[in-house]
Amino acid sequence: MRGLRRKTDVMANIDAPVLHVRHADLTRTDDSMFRSNCPVCRLGILMVRRSDRFRLMALDCCIRCGQQVIYDDIAELIKFDENRP
Ligand SMILES: [Zn+2]
Repeated sequence: MRGLRRKTDVMANIDAPVLHVRHADLTRTDDSMFRSNCPVCRLGILMVRRSDRFRLMALDCCIRCGQQVIYDDIAELIKFDENRP
């Protein structure tokens, strides 16, 4: 149908409400400690963004479908990141 987009389409979820997720519950894409498969489109990746001071940020966005997520466990992830050798 014309005008109807699937949620797997590129940028299909850019206007969707922000989704609360736990980074620990997501599936990593590869051997990266941070990159996850998008739980919405499952084709895109959530990379975990960093601030200009290089701190991990709670708000992230799928590079494919545009879904925004908030990591509810970002504090644990920051602690882990900052205590790495
Ligand atoms: Zn996605």
